[in-house]
Amino acid sequence: MDELLNPLIQGDRRALSRAITLIESTRPDHRARAVALLSSLPDRQALRIGMSGTPGVGKSTFIEAFGTMLTEAGLKVAVLAVDPSSTRSGGSILGDKTRMELLSRNPNAFIRPTPSSAQLGGVARRTREAIRLCEAAGYDVVLIETVGVGQSETLVAEMCDLFVLLLAPAGGDELQGVKRGIMEMADLILVNKADGDLLSTARRTVADYAGALRLLRKRPQDPERFPKALAVSALTGDGMRKAWDEMQELADWRREHGHFDGNRAEQSRHWFMAELRAGLLARLETHAAKAHLEDLGERVASGDTSPADAAHQMLDWLQDQGRK
Ligand code: GDP
Repeated sequence: MDELLNPLIQGDRRALSRAITLIESTRPDHRARAVALLSSLPDRQALRIGMSGTPGVGKSTFIEAFGTMLTEAGLKVAVLAVDPSSTRSGGSILGDKTRMELLSRNPNAFIRPTPSSAQLGGVARRTREAIRLCEAAGYDVVLIETVGVGQSETLVAEMCDLFVLLLAPAGGDELQGVKRGIMEMADLILVNKADGDLLSTARRTVADYAGALRLLRKRPQDPERFPKALAVSALTGDGMRKAWDEMQELADWRREHGHFDGNRAEQSRHWFMAELRAGLLARLETHAAKAHLEDLGERVASGDTSPADAAHQMLDWLQDQGRK
């Protein structure tokens, strides 16, 4: 049994940190230990909430206030981040401890920044595994934060129970700026900064998005009134409680009707295929495979072999390698 397992399931934050460092490692011996640890975890379930929004919309302010509210209600909260931009710049901008000072000092909260230098696929696996570690450590809510960049939203939506989109108050024109695909993923749209001078704009924005959501395809398994839009202020805390009530209501409804577990089962299937695809691609990256691919590529280019035949030969070759 792994020495991290016991302290981890007792909720020791250092053990959780070390376990996440372990799953982030690509060293083969670490990977083997990580896989063994993951398969010995107890079956505990947190509410996994994905949260997306462009930089500046107030994600860290919101998560700090929201997370604090949840811990005051007796819940344990973990915050993870998926930040594809940090994989390019090498620096992490999300889940940064200094951005959530209050929450990072809270004994019932755990914040983990994005690791730098990882492929999006690697980030996906690392985040899914980190979620499971947080669940095993007894966290009740796992917030997965992401910026509105590239495919990170889809990735996060595929590992969450609920997906929340945080938006800023804006005029009608800017509504067009939110991609339809991202709106379709949202269970809840929160228009942040609904305070002071921005309050009336925020209310109008909520009405605009509520209208836009009505035009989108409904998820047939959800109650009529979802997805919905609400106004919140991360600064004053207004609307925060209501947002949490709505999240719980939707999660409870899905649990009662079997859609909660059904969704997780679907997600597991999806990630199984994703892992398999990644594994197959990795096999093509080996030295011998690359040489063989290049050779076949030449033969296709010169007309000696047809593309279909070459693909067949490559697949046969991989199968032979697998047997060895
Ligand atoms: P992030 O980049 O999405 O994490 O955004 P931040 O949480 O760093 O917030 C960006 C800016 O918006 C900061 O100056 C915050 O103080 C401000 N901000 C965040 N939430 C609110 C809010 O509810 N109301 C107001 N008025 N400002 C906010």
